[in-house]
Amino acid sequence: MSDTNISQNLEQLKHRIAAACEKCGRDPDDILLVAVSKTKPNKDILKAVQSGQLHFGENRMKELEGKMEQIVNSDISWHFIGNLQTNKIKYIANRVNWIHSVEKTKYLKEIEKRAASASRTINALIQVNISDEKQKGGCAPDALAAILESAQDYEHVNICGLMGMATFADDPEDTRPEFRLLKELFDSHQKYNQGSVNLQYLSMGMTNDLDVAIEEGSNMVRVGSAIFGARNYD
Ligand SMILES: *Cc1c(COP(=O)(O)O)cnc(C)c1O
Repeated sequence: MSDTNISQNLEQLKHRIAAACEKCGRDPDDILLVAVSKTKPNKDILKAVQSGQLHFGENRMKELEGKMEQIVNSDISWHFIGNLQTNKIKYIANRVNWIHSVEKTKYLKEIEKRAASASRTINALIQVNISDEKQKGGCAPDALAAILESAQDYEHVNICGLMGMATFADDPEDTRPEFRLLKELFDSHQKYNQGSVNLQYLSMGMTNDLDVAIEEGSNMVRVGSAIFGARNYD
């Protein structure tokens, strides 16, 4: 069926990330690559692991739960990047390492509760809506401060960054203002770092626009199709 060469794709992607870093004088080692394996089979994930990739992102809770159960490898960090629902957080809280898509204080509260009962700590990123598209999710930029202030006393969630998705554009250059806005919010909200809030990660950039995202300050890119090939659905 598919003859996607995952190890070669990863190699090329690393060159692409290095080139983007070179353009703006950054160190490629500062960019964390999250391989987005949604819709792809376990064997593709295992191929990527063989090439040294250890961070994986999924956007459906049930799918992530299944993959975490089937692929037992404590070196892997699992990232949830899709829409959250309060009543489903329990399915992933016992294993997931990162959640990128927190847009409400009530989700943080539920993550704290579930992570506490599993005696673990989860890294959470607050998703901010930087695009014009409502369906992209994320809190409004002016809601961010209150969310961070509400989260400083958690013991099982590290609120360690921000995440954003740019409007899809044929020319990725068009996404630059949205990435720049998220970087500005990231910088201007450092003053809320206290207790469990410590904004260190800026998760922005996907297959289509990661070069521009890196130039604008991203240190975490979420890349699917450039590694695993095109998807039939999202
Ligand atoms: C699917 C997805 C990605 C990866 O998309 P590609 O264009 O395949 O790189 C990144 N982030 C989120 C939130 C996604 O849902």
